[in-house]
Amino acid sequence: MKRPVVSSEEEVPLPTNEAVPLPEASIFDIIPQKQQPAPVTLEPRALAFLREHFPAAEEKDWANWKWQLSNSITSLDKLSSIVNLSKDETRALSGKGGVLPLRITPHYASLLAKNDPRQPIRRSVIPVTAEHQHCFGEAADPLHEENDSPVSGIVHRYPDRVLFLATGFCSAYCRYCTRSRMVGDANRMHQFSTKIWDEAIDYIRRTSTIRDVLISGGDPLTMPDAKIEYLLSALRKIEHVEILRIGTKIPAVLPQRITPKLVNLLKKYHPLFVSIHFTHPDEVTPEVAQACMRLADAGIPLGSQTVLLKGINDDVPTMARLFHQLLKIRVRPYYLYQCDPIVGSGHFRTTVEKGLEIIQGLRGHTSGYAIPQFVVDAPGGGGKTPLLPDYWQGRDAEYVYVKNYEGNLYRYPNIQRPLEK
Ligand SMILES: *Cc1c(COP(=O)(O)O)cnc(C)c1O
Repeated sequence: MKRPVVSSEEEVPLPTNEAVPLPEASIFDIIPQKQQPAPVTLEPRALAFLREHFPAAEEKDWANWKWQLSNSITSLDKLSSIVNLSKDETRALSGKGGVLPLRITPHYASLLAKNDPRQPIRRSVIPVTAEHQHCFGEAADPLHEENDSPVSGIVHRYPDRVLFLATGFCSAYCRYCTRSRMVGDANRMHQFSTKIWDEAIDYIRRTSTIRDVLISGGDPLTMPDAKIEYLLSALRKIEHVEILRIGTKIPAVLPQRITPKLVNLLKKYHPLFVSIHFTHPDEVTPEVAQACMRLADAGIPLGSQTVLLKGINDDVPTMARLFHQLLKIRVRPYYLYQCDPIVGSGHFRTTVEKGLEIIQGLRGHTSGYAIPQFVVDAPGGGGKTPLLPDYWQGRDAEYVYVKNYEGNLYRYPNIQRPLEK
């Protein structure tokens, strides 16, 4: 019998300490017996964290994604009982704050370094006062998504595909969020009602050039199964919609959400792709690995999206480690993003040259599968624009000159002229 490590469904009965007598197996037993729920086993790290910070809760609670959501850390008080906050973090949390609320799942909180405010994943979810600073070139909606929105909840920027903003809720709020203008705002949740959804679905239905729908938000996998199914089945019924995609950080911050039930639901809507937001190799825990394996086993191609962040993942060894770990859990690095200039992102942003340097440090040195496309999402609504280090060295009438990954110059015969006899 398989023992689930991370997920338990809410309707699973309490595990008991009594040994449950199983009926004697017989080769004539053709009717499958209803399996007794397996006891939940937690990672030692998770178990120690649970005992220390949620003493009243049980192991099966930890493994339940709804418990994780309702016990997420949203207040300075709770957070300060878990990590020793720096003066700056405390100040950022006690002031009137920026636009983005605090929210960290217990799972993700169990990975935070108690005493190190410089820890990469800690910086990605705990605000600092620099977040309240408005720097050069920053805007609330730098990608002008609102300008490319024909109906509420849809961003239609490219000819054949749309972004479907299904919810404004996330299980954890990344401080550098490109949609911090709209996520986590209780006053905007009405913008994601089913009436708004139906209008968005209708737009896709009557726009026959749309062959690809990317469902994002907010994090669509924070929604109940029934809502996810409503959306997927409505979109799947549209003939010209060829592929569906979900953009999510759930497998990294709330792996308990990837239940067998959810995976069975998702796989009814193939071809379905999932893009997972990963920031740092510290996120790739055994629970996360299991969540990704489940999705991959359901035939869902998994890609990753990573934002280049100063002091968090802006060096070749960290990125190489992240991308290698992702490949091991069957996630193919898809995009590396230059950090969007949202208001308050100055302390996270580094130069475009840094991104190029990282790509140069990977290409040729490691598996091509471990190398995402580096893109700048052009402010003003220009869209994702790929950038490459200077491999191209120019051309003349006969040759193209290229520099390889070791910096050596080569030439390629770029015309097809028969040799003279
Ligand atoms: C990123 C994005 C997409 C999807 O782009 P791909 O390059 O196909 O992954 C679609 N619409 C919008 C508005 C986007 O920002």
